[in-house]
Amino acid sequence: GKPTCECNSCFGGPDCSQFSPDCVADADGGDPLFLEPFWKQHAANSALVVAGWHRMSYVFENNSYISLELEKHIRRVHSIAKNAATSGKYVVFGAGSTQLLNAAVYALSPQNSSSPAKVVASIPYYPIYETQTGFFNSVNFEFEGDASLWKNSTSDSSINLIEFVTAPNNPDGKLNKPTLQGPSVKTIHDLAYFWPHFTAIPTPADEDLMIFTISKLTGHAGSRFGWAVVKDEAVYQRMVWYMTLSEMGVSRDAQLRALKLLKVVLEEGDGKEIFEFAYQTMRKRWERLSRVISMSNRFSIQEIPPQFCTFFQKVRGPSPEIPVRILHISKQLHLRNAAYAWLKCEWEEDKDCSAVLRGANILSRNGSMFAAGNRYVRLSLIRTDDDFEFLLHRMNNLVSDEDGSK
Ligand code: PMP
Repeated sequence: GKPTCECNSCFGGPDCSQFSPDCVADADGGDPLFLEPFWKQHAANSALVVAGWHRMSYVFENNSYISLELEKHIRRVHSIAKNAATSGKYVVFGAGSTQLLNAAVYALSPQNSSSPAKVVASIPYYPIYETQTGFFNSVNFEFEGDASLWKNSTSDSSINLIEFVTAPNNPDGKLNKPTLQGPSVKTIHDLAYFWPHFTAIPTPADEDLMIFTISKLTGHAGSRFGWAVVKDEAVYQRMVWYMTLSEMGVSRDAQLRALKLLKVVLEEGDGKEIFEFAYQTMRKRWERLSRVISMSNRFSIQEIPPQFCTFFQKVRGPSPEIPVRILHISKQLHLRNAAYAWLKCEWEEDKDCSAVLRGANILSRNGSMFAAGNRYVRLSLIRTDDDFEFLLHRMNNLVSDEDGSK
């Protein structure tokens, strides 16, 4: 008989090219494995070996929990990506940006106030803001949901407001701006996706409190490493205090891994190769999915308006070493990127959009998790190539079936 090939669980047939009919396309979850091929190309110089006696102490040579070498590399990556102004600001590390979200809420909340700070975000918002703020159940802060409901309270000095501003937003990719402004409003800028592969960078972010994560920069979500860039010294000190009490700093092993990865990021193509790779991957995926959705009247996805990108403009300069494909990147093309598709079920009867997709073997994240209702779902576009191919295949089938099913 014919030798049988080792197919991925979703493929069958003699050359593994046929989708198996009951394979489930997983577009749930935010695991950024689309960057795995980049790291496979740089497997040797990103590898890490640590002798057993290395890095045993709680602290670095400077007696702090923070590697100054890593901090320097982080500042350098921001200056190459042109996505954040870090000079004159402090840097705090966290076990993923998840930990820093609450460290920031803690640091911005009043102590000993008679009423807790109200933590808000604009809908649709990343669910952890709500669940985490509720979980810590502090007398100093509580989650109050939709930011826009507090627009008339910003001049009331007895109300302390803390707004999470997520740009690009998870789930819909919009470059959100603060909804609230005023003397008693504090803002936490969650910039997890503010990198040239997920969005145009109109100008470097220069906010008082900005949070980033290696998860969405290099794709190493499992290393649990994030950082905050903080302008105000007192806020910085409170975040450091939070980190000291909750964790005594971030694992030195995680810091070492992050340093190794950022070294490779900075070495390859003058620090531009990873962004070029990630941008092209995301752009191709976004274009292919939008082409399928454009043929549908049952489903729609978010519009992302054109924006000028400072990062790619720079790459498009006159230097002769720049590969031709980079020269093709125009601001028109750049508008097409987003980490997630925010899909809406348009047909009246499709009230539960994630159930509609589940019926077609697609796993999505329900819009109600983002306080946006069941007509919407989030589809992850940052998973592996296989995950994306299955998703596209299944969506294509659904859209082709539209005429027959209505
Ligand atoms: N902020 C946003 C908007 C996110 O989407 C995520 C992860 N999906 C995080 C923060 C947390 O990321 P991490 O803890 O891995 O740094």
